[in-house]
Amino acid sequence: MKVAVYHGIGDIRVEESPIPKIKEGEILLRVMSCAICGTDLRIYKHGHKKVKPPHIIGHEVAGVIESVGEGVTDYKEGDRVLLVTEVGCNLCRWCLDGRKNLCAKMQAFGYYYPGGFAQFMKIPREAVEQANLIPFPDTLSFEEASLIEPFSCCINGQEYLNIGLGDKVVIVGAGPIGLMHAALARSKGAKMVILVDISSSRLEMAKSLPIDFFIDASRENPVEKVKEITAGEGVDAAIVACPSGQAQAEALEMVGIRGRVSFFGGLPPEKSRITIDSNVIHYKEIGIFGAFASSNQHYYKALKVAATESIDLKKLITASYPLKKIQEGFQLLSQGKAIKIVINPWE
Ligand SMILES: [Zn+2]
Ligand SMILES: [Zn+2]
Repeated sequence: MKVAVYHGIGDIRVEESPIPKIKEGEILLRVMSCAICGTDLRIYKHGHKKVKPPHIIGHEVAGVIESVGEGVTDYKEGDRVLLVTEVGCNLCRWCLDGRKNLCAKMQAFGYYYPGGFAQFMKIPREAVEQANLIPFPDTLSFEEASLIEPFSCCINGQEYLNIGLGDKVVIVGAGPIGLMHAALARSKGAKMVILVDISSSRLEMAKSLPIDFFIDASRENPVEKVKEITAGEGVDAAIVACPSGQAQAEALEMVGIRGRVSFFGGLPPEKSRITIDSNVIHYKEIGIFGAFASSNQHYYKALKVAATESIDLKKLITASYPLKKIQEGFQLLSQGKAIKIVINPWE
């Protein structure tokens, strides 16, 4: 089979590799689509402490079950399925609570296990037993289904924020995650969605989406602009979907009284300490929340929303490439010229 192997920073090569052999309880998955995540791009550009090259990365996967090992009864050959990235221990309180993304022993496809930039993937027994393959209907294409993973992370992140009818929401970061957050907030009933970014080209790519105001933070002060748009009140919720400590601090100024703030994106480790005005949190009764990855329940919800077409994930796909052109996909993303790129290993 053909695989794209990550050999180190800036070095991904398409190679031949034997098709994985599956044993009892395991599944062989034919990968139809695997989208490039922001994290994949970070691994490609800077490396990652959990990814030891040579390794196959990629975790936003949709495909068809090629064969099932002995003893597998809940899945069958030919099922269209998408992959849950996280595999938990299945014993701790977070796994039992349906939040294996928070399990101390969590391992993930594309990091610990080989990932989806390959024609086939072996799904190990522990993942099969944790229902890491989720069936999806033919109304959703493989490419769209590959975007359920990032979308499920947004669903998890917005759980805490309680966005509802009439809310005003600001999203900082116009990458694919920011745009998914915008669409999700809208579908939950937000009456105003404001998008902030420092890149005018990213904002331009988002113009076709249902967003009310675009703020180019490289040209105007985003806090003042948000205040102006909301007649001085500030928004009800702010989601920071970019790796910027300054944006996190500013989000506290953008929300109004009892505003909710999500620090959705992580910061680079050497920049993860930031300075904020704690009294703003005190007097305005602001809530600040984290979000990290997602679990099966969030994938199910994401699928439900995407399958009813209240959110059209297709709009976020700028281009798709066959596996042999994966380098081009990474290049286009690094140049900031794409929202989402999908790799189709059988094209
Ligand atoms: Zn991802
Ligand atoms: Zn656990």
